[in-house]
Amino acid sequence: MSAYHPLTETEAIQIARSLPDLFSGGAELTSREIGDGNLNLVFHIRDAASARSIIMKQALPYAKVVGESWPLTLDRARIESEVLMLEGALCPGLAPKVYLYDPELALTVMEDLSDHVIMRKGLIEGNRYPRFADDISTFLARTLFLTSDLGLNQQEKKERVKQFINPELCKITEDLIFDDPYRDADTNSFDEAIRDEAEKLWADGELHLEVALLRHKFLTQAQALLHGDLHTGSIFIKEDSTKVIDPEFAYYGPMGFDIGAVLANLLLNYAGQEGWKSDTADRLAYRAYLLDTVKQVWSGFEAKFRALWEQQGIDRLSNNAAGFQEVYMKQLLQDTIGFTGAKMVRRVVGLAHVADIDTIENSQAKERAQRLALAIGKALIKLNRRAVTIDEVISIAEQQT
Ligand code: ADP
Ligand code: MG
Ligand code: MG
Ligand code: MG
Repeated sequence: MSAYHPLTETEAIQIARSLPDLFSGGAELTSREIGDGNLNLVFHIRDAASARSIIMKQALPYAKVVGESWPLTLDRARIESEVLMLEGALCPGLAPKVYLYDPELALTVMEDLSDHVIMRKGLIEGNRYPRFADDISTFLARTLFLTSDLGLNQQEKKERVKQFINPELCKITEDLIFDDPYRDADTNSFDEAIRDEAEKLWADGELHLEVALLRHKFLTQAQALLHGDLHTGSIFIKEDSTKVIDPEFAYYGPMGFDIGAVLANLLLNYAGQEGWKSDTADRLAYRAYLLDTVKQVWSGFEAKFRALWEQQGIDRLSNNAAGFQEVYMKQLLQDTIGFTGAKMVRRVVGLAHVADIDTIENSQAKERAQRLALAIGKALIKLNRRAVTIDEVISIAEQQT
């Protein structure tokens, strides 16, 4: 199309017009940039007459964070578009359709999902999503199993590992999730009211050992193709549909990192309910719903993953060696619990927070939510290598309340 430069809304329209089969020749297109502008531009392009619309996501060559900016590879746009297509093929209906990827402009043209809402927002509003646990557990089981050595030809898997090498985005995770929150780093950001909690994190040797082990797993274990950023802000949802977006952090890593991202964000919202539901009965009921969802996501994942293994397992010895599957599933649960905890802690004291807690107006409720999220997160990290069932996660959340 043309040499890389960040597009204007007008240019986005010109490109949309040039795409075959999307809009009719005389269509009057409007364009609106709707991204949050930290890493990427997102244009919503619409033809009012036909009510047809598309999304164009363009990667920026830098990340803007707290006024500073650092360079960030445009190759993540390739990774994102290729992973969206792969996810769509493995899990029909659970990822947006990709119409086009332009490498020059680092631009992905995809299905407009504006009839869905971002799940984080939906949970803050107190909505319940009857399809969610089933859909996301299908997404997790299929994307993880079918890209791993258990479900994919092992030579082909190595090609995939190469295809999705993503060092710069991994580095962000390695620093912001697995390092900075555990020391007095410049990137950290937290309310002075909880400085005591931050200082405890920096001095907790037991926690440091567990986080170092999780970090090492994230650095070294090419177990499956991960989404890499599977929080509730990367999930579009409505009553009858779930769509996973934004896999620019994708790489081959430990499966528990993706499952843990989902559980952590449910639990962050659980902690945030200090500020969202003032009626005690309402709050208890919604929290019970969130914990039930945590349990269903894990159980659904486990059942579907085991079923895929029975039906499509390709690795002879691990298919047949008695006890292998049990050892594997137990390790996966433990990893999931550890990563869940790590993803919670960083959202309270690290660089990037979540609206479920940060936008609580009442400062006392917000502080209680932050302390609760930290307490749950730390307890999960410390539990991880001893855990045997998902019910332990539920008990920890209930006990900390
Ligand atoms: P980033 O990587 O910058 O976080 P996202 O892919 O998460 O970008 O998109 C940012 C926002 O743009 C989303 O929260 C959503 O509001 C909007 N958006 C992204 N993709 C779509 C889509 N396919 N349909 C509708 N809106 C979208
Ligand atoms: Mg963003
Ligand atoms: Mg995003
Ligand atoms: Mg993103």
